[in-house]
Amino acid sequence: MAVFNQVEFDNHEQVVFCSDEASGLKAIIAVHNTKLGPAVGGCRLWNYASDEDAVYDVLRLSKGMTYKNAVARLPFGGGKSVIIGDAKTIKSEALFRAFGKHLDRLGGSYYSAEDVNITTGDVMVMHKETNYVMGLEGKSGNPSPFTALGTFLGIKAAYQHKYGHQDLAGIKVAVQGLGAVAYTLCKHLHEAGAELFVTDINEESVQRVVNDFNATAVGIDEIYDLDVDVYAPCALGATVNDDTIPRIKATIIAGCANNQLAESRHGEIIREKGILYAPDYVINAGGIINVYYETKPEGYDEAAATKHVEGIYDTLTEIFKRSEDEKVSTHIIADKLAQEIIENGL
Ligand code: NAD
Repeated sequence: MAVFNQVEFDNHEQVVFCSDEASGLKAIIAVHNTKLGPAVGGCRLWNYASDEDAVYDVLRLSKGMTYKNAVARLPFGGGKSVIIGDAKTIKSEALFRAFGKHLDRLGGSYYSAEDVNITTGDVMVMHKETNYVMGLEGKSGNPSPFTALGTFLGIKAAYQHKYGHQDLAGIKVAVQGLGAVAYTLCKHLHEAGAELFVTDINEESVQRVVNDFNATAVGIDEIYDLDVDVYAPCALGATVNDDTIPRIKATIIAGCANNQLAESRHGEIIREKGILYAPDYVINAGGIINVYYETKPEGYDEAAATKHVEGIYDTLTEIFKRSEDEKVSTHIIADKLAQEIIENGL
């Protein structure tokens, strides 16, 4: 299996293959870069089609965490881990304890946390074997409201940049996915006077937002065709793609979902179309910023976490300005900014 020759290999500092026969654990931990601090990034449980796919994913995701943490100006490097298996059948106390032991052996170069198919309860089991975990129950709490706040402020920053003011009263926003983050985002938008058009595969989630925030429910696929000012992807990745771009009428794309661009080239296509894109890993960093504050020696401080999340507004403003000046898409500028911060320090 190729590791050093993988397209996603980016001089990762360490890639560790972990196993435990008794529990069936097969996992990979990738520490991408620890220049700014210990690598931090969640653990994903996924039934990969092959070991190669798992390596590809962990290399890609860990690099993404280095960039995300740097642009959020956190003293964290980037890392990620994947456990290979079917989430419906593989989970057990023994599995997560075995994984916790592997984390402990890394001696703090990598801290894990929840991600797809891993709950805070699972992380608590890892914690029985190691202190190198974050986002624990009873510490910084639910990250979603902080992610929602950052996303709301990101929409304001985008509006300010594009239209010279940030009064959202009367603007139309299409929100795709109405989960933990998007519910609070809709609340902020509604309070700011925005008109909401919403969709979700879960009918109950739609009804709640319709009732609570006077939103208009639209179809799952209809969300791309609406005559709105902002499109906020808050569910899936890769929704900005060859099929959807010609349909999107919004002039701003700003939401909390990860990996919104199907491919990097789509960032350039939407820039040329005059759409301002708030790079996903910049606008959705509120949750990880909040988690950082649980690591403070003086203890978790919600006010300090909130203030730091509010900085997402300024970071995005800087990215939007540079994108305009350099005539390069915003997601490329975000990567450049991350590289500069990693090079020069926080
Ligand atoms: P969630 O699981 O609570 O919400 C996702 C929602 O999307 C669900 O209500 C689901 O029914 C809906 N959905 C799924 N497929 C859909 C489809 N095809 N069309 C419309 N809706 C669909 O997740 P969340 O925590 O709110 O996170 C939302 C997104 O933001 C995810 O991409 C997540 O990775 C990202 N994110 C979340 C956080 C956080 O703090 N929770 C931080 C950073 C990034």
